[in-house]
Amino acid sequence: MAKYDYDMFTIGAGSGGVAASRRAGSYGARIAICEESRVGGTCVIRGCVPKKLLVHGAQFADAFADSVGFGWAPHMPAFDWAKLIANKDTEIDRLNAIYKKLLSDAGVALFEAHGRIIDAHTVEVAGKRYTAANILIATGSHPTVPAIPGIEHAITSNEALQLPSLPRKLIIVGGGYIAVEFAGIFASLGTEVVEVIRGDDLLGGFDDDVRVALAMEMRGRGVEIRTRTNIARIDKYPHGITATTTQGEEISADAIMYATGRRPNTRNLGLDEVGVQLDANGAVVVDEGSRTTVEGIYAVGDVTNMLNLTPVAIAEGRALAETLFNDNPMIVDHETVPTAIFSQPPCATVGLTESAARKKYGAIDVYRTRFKPMKNLLAGRDERTMMKLVVDRASDRVLGCHMVGADAPEIIQGLAIALKCGATKTQFDQTIGIHPSAAEEFVTLREKVPEPKAAAAE
Ligand code: NDP
Repeated sequence: MAKYDYDMFTIGAGSGGVAASRRAGSYGARIAICEESRVGGTCVIRGCVPKKLLVHGAQFADAFADSVGFGWAPHMPAFDWAKLIANKDTEIDRLNAIYKKLLSDAGVALFEAHGRIIDAHTVEVAGKRYTAANILIATGSHPTVPAIPGIEHAITSNEALQLPSLPRKLIIVGGGYIAVEFAGIFASLGTEVVEVIRGDDLLGGFDDDVRVALAMEMRGRGVEIRTRTNIARIDKYPHGITATTTQGEEISADAIMYATGRRPNTRNLGLDEVGVQLDANGAVVVDEGSRTTVEGIYAVGDVTNMLNLTPVAIAEGRALAETLFNDNPMIVDHETVPTAIFSQPPCATVGLTESAARKKYGAIDVYRTRFKPMKNLLAGRDERTMMKLVVDRASDRVLGCHMVGADAPEIIQGLAIALKCGATKTQFDQTIGIHPSAAEEFVTLREKVPEPKAAAAE
């Protein structure tokens, strides 16, 4: 008889947990997974997927407006927010069912309840204890908001995806991925959006040219971005809220949404008791093999101190299953991970920012272009695309590709393969462009941006 009930017990059926469990199940391992919310996790239920559906919905506004320059009679059809939300929910229900079926097809036992670790080989779910050779923590993260008076009147991305009606005016606090994505959705749908950031620029950690270009285009689309602004309190009134800044200024709106980061779901899992180490942000500390500080307990995805991106969680989950159950030790390379922001216009990036490359390599060359894409000429849209390459001067290797503009995520995904292969600027130049496209600009960049010192001396 087997020593344990299961070969692996996974806590959390989001992208990482499901990927690990399915792959392990496909190798004949006996796997159980528990989920206290809905199978699919943040990405499928209240993150990437519903957000992207809303982005698609919002983009029709541009298409209708732009069509006039291409000969279509001016016509802005009425928009029905409730219908978009209902259709989005139907799609999420469908995906939720598919995820459950994928688990059962892989022979994974699903418990729809909260799981808690009792010891290194025991998980308690709904009052029953199960033993497992390995335990995988894949519990994800949740939005975090600062503790200011009236914060209970604020919503997060969770509620923004379920609003009963489209707000006429919305304050969004934060300048990261989620804040700019939702600012784009709501502004395109006709909501007056005020984005409040505590620093000078959006998107901390991204290349400065991306940060500047996106802010410019968002402002061009009517999003008001208030920099160096902090909200001190929120008051609720029958028809909305008023946010008061630390300078005493009042901003009234129908709603206020906080997108001020996410915190790992590590509470009430028994981690302290069993000795799993957390970092200062409450994330599970793991090594490159997703091992926690307790032997036999692993963690993947947003609950860890690694990159918080769905495809990374999936890769970590699959690598763990390969390592544990297919005698195929795998480690996920967390370098050169491409990422996209589905703002309007979208941004995407892979590799090093200019400032990180300067720090790491010293001598670098920077190539940058800003241009009006062909479609915008007839459309009468003033929006420009920004593309940028960061190149190591010594080796000619392309270290970073950055873009703000239509189709940026689709274009950068392909370039990420080139960077993974160590492509040089010469190889970019030798590549024939696809004409007419925006993407071809990445293989025709000739003019170097003057060195910062030389530029300052001019
Ligand atoms: P981010 O960490 O990206 O951004 C948080 C923002 O909130 C920053 O602008 C930060 O400002 C600001 N902030 C933090 N605390 C406060 C505060 N107390 N008061 C005011 N502002 C504050 O978090 P998100 O919530 O946007 O997203 C979480 C993560 O989810 C992302 O990092 C990403 O990994 C993932 N994600 C990925 C997506 C994608 O791949 N497209 C989409 C959505 C999320 P400052 O810069 O000054 O610190």
